[in-house]
Amino acid sequence: MSFKELKLNKAILKAVANAGYNNPTLVQELTIPLVLNKKDVITSAQTGTGKTAAFALPILQLLFDKQDAPKKGKKIKALIISPTRELAIQINNNFKTYGKNTNLRSTVIFGGTSIEPQKDILNKGVDIVIATPGRLLDLHKQDVINLDYVETLVIDEADLMLDMGFIDDVKKIERLCTKEKQILLFSATIPYKVEQLASSILKSPERVDVSPTSSVTKNVSQVLYYVPKRNKIELCLHLLRNTIKGNILIFRRTKFGVNKLEQTLINNGYKVETIHGDKAQSLRQEALKKFKNGYVNILIATDVAARGIDINELDAVVNFDMPNVPETYVHRIGRTGRAGQTGMSYSLCSADEKNYVKTIQQLISVQIPIEDNHPYPLDPKAKPIIHKSNKTSKHKKGRKSKASKKKKKRWY
Ligand code: AMP
Repeated sequence: MSFKELKLNKAILKAVANAGYNNPTLVQELTIPLVLNKKDVITSAQTGTGKTAAFALPILQLLFDKQDAPKKGKKIKALIISPTRELAIQINNNFKTYGKNTNLRSTVIFGGTSIEPQKDILNKGVDIVIATPGRLLDLHKQDVINLDYVETLVIDEADLMLDMGFIDDVKKIERLCTKEKQILLFSATIPYKVEQLASSILKSPERVDVSPTSSVTKNVSQVLYYVPKRNKIELCLHLLRNTIKGNILIFRRTKFGVNKLEQTLINNGYKVETIHGDKAQSLRQEALKKFKNGYVNILIATDVAARGIDINELDAVVNFDMPNVPETYVHRIGRTGRAGQTGMSYSLCSADEKNYVKTIQQLISVQIPIEDNHPYPLDPKAKPIIHKSNKTSKHKKGRKSKASKKKKKRWY
């Protein structure tokens, strides 16, 4: 199928061709006609599938077709909410690229930076707003933003949005928009809580499902290293020296872990950047820019900070900590091996993470190949730690906290 067959107009087709896209991706092929038909849509698709254009192109087209409306009006006609600032910025950049032959105006608003310039832009008038929930509600409270004319509301990365505790904000924002609007919900996975949100605000939605989270692209070669927790850093350094090449994204579970690893790698002569939730927005952007420009070849990130960020030409993903949610593994390694290229995924698993590997392998229905030819092998007798639920007795709780205190003394 071609973009032309999707009945996109000339202005948008030209921008798409300029962006170097030859044909629509599957998610675009399936979602664009539904959006153009003004349907509510739930699309299950991961970053990397072309999902941004799947909503941005038809939204631009719908607004462009109505361009007899006053061009300098202050009515916001499309609102896209995103859980993270980086993703919001990226979505706005995409709108600018795809909408460059239209005179539609878009802007991005997010917290962590001065509110005044954002107010100025809104006061001048824009057609499309891409926003993180908190700052959007702030601006609404201050009467700077009017959502009465929103015709299309997009909730992007809905599962992450809910994981980050934005459920009430999302519902509030939905209520602030006019009732007669189209809602598009995009989510990498559709867990029960996303279904619940969708059924409470979408009207007879159509569904598009392009990438079940359990599927790992064949373009990514996976390898698993069992290693004692205390030797993970040595193994990581060993692999960086001898095995892992190119642009590398290393995942850690916590911000503390990210900072700690950054310091160690810098001390060992590596050029490294980091992104995590505690970092000021400008620094996060700066870090991403340096990585994308090739100034540094190692980026260390937490899952939340890295989610949705589009980094092309990633050669390798390193799971320094194994993710405790199996879908996260799929999201992480799906950052490499995109657009027909090949990629590598290296997972460092300590004894207490063995159970995570088990659930990951169940989800992806693949046994990850083990590499045991390395200098820091894990004693094969090391037993997996059973991760129990919260139903711990008082006595056990006491023991647990002592153990975690002990853990704290270790480097991570
Ligand atoms: P997304 O899933 O929206 O983050 O998009 C992932 C990447 O795919 C971005 O770099 C887009 O520029 C690119 N992309 C989107 N649509 C297409 C297409 N039809 N053909 C080629 N690349 C695309």
